[in-house]
Amino acid sequence: MIKKLSYIFGSKTKAQEIMLLINNAKKVVRHGFYESELPRVQKFCHEQHLYVVRSKFKVLFADDELYSNKGIRIKESDPRLGMYLVYISANEEQAWLASYYEMMNNHRDLGKILGYPTCCVDFFCQNFSSKNPNLQGKATNMFTNITQRDKDAVLLSHFPCSSDCQQSMVLGKKYLDTLIKIDKSRAVELMEALKV
Ligand SMILES: [Zn+2]
Repeated sequence: MIKKLSYIFGSKTKAQEIMLLINNAKKVVRHGFYESELPRVQKFCHEQHLYVVRSKFKVLFADDELYSNKGIRIKESDPRLGMYLVYISANEEQAWLASYYEMMNNHRDLGKILGYPTCCVDFFCQNFSSKNPNLQGKATNMFTNITQRDKDAVLLSHFPCSSDCQQSMVLGKKYLDTLIKIDKSRAVELMEALKV
């Protein structure tokens, strides 16, 4: 199911987040999409009664670092190929709030509304900078392992404050449990890729 959806959303990780949203394991999902991808994303979300809010700006990402907010913001009218940031939720207000917090560079409230643990939001706010955009630590368990995210295998969508962060492990477990129920083959694929 997630593999099929990845043709709409561009990656299995993005499709997986949408399935977590539909199955109430997440409240708001944030992702970057190119303009060409938006019609099919919006069509699918509309059919699923999900609200989609799109940023008014585009972002140029050096690589796949949507995690880090490192990308350079450009105007919508800029001809360069940037990604729009898109916030998806069954709750319209939450999707708009996430978009607003991001526009205002309010990482703290953005992290909160995306469901990230407070300890990890604090960690991000204290440590992230354009000189230090990658806060990835050494992986110690599959639930918080974000080292394979460039290979489209990850459970979390935030930097855990440590690989042993309890709240992040709880989140990772919850997502994996949900995936086991809704798409066993994706869950097995993740367990294989993320084991340490
Ligand atoms: Zn934490």
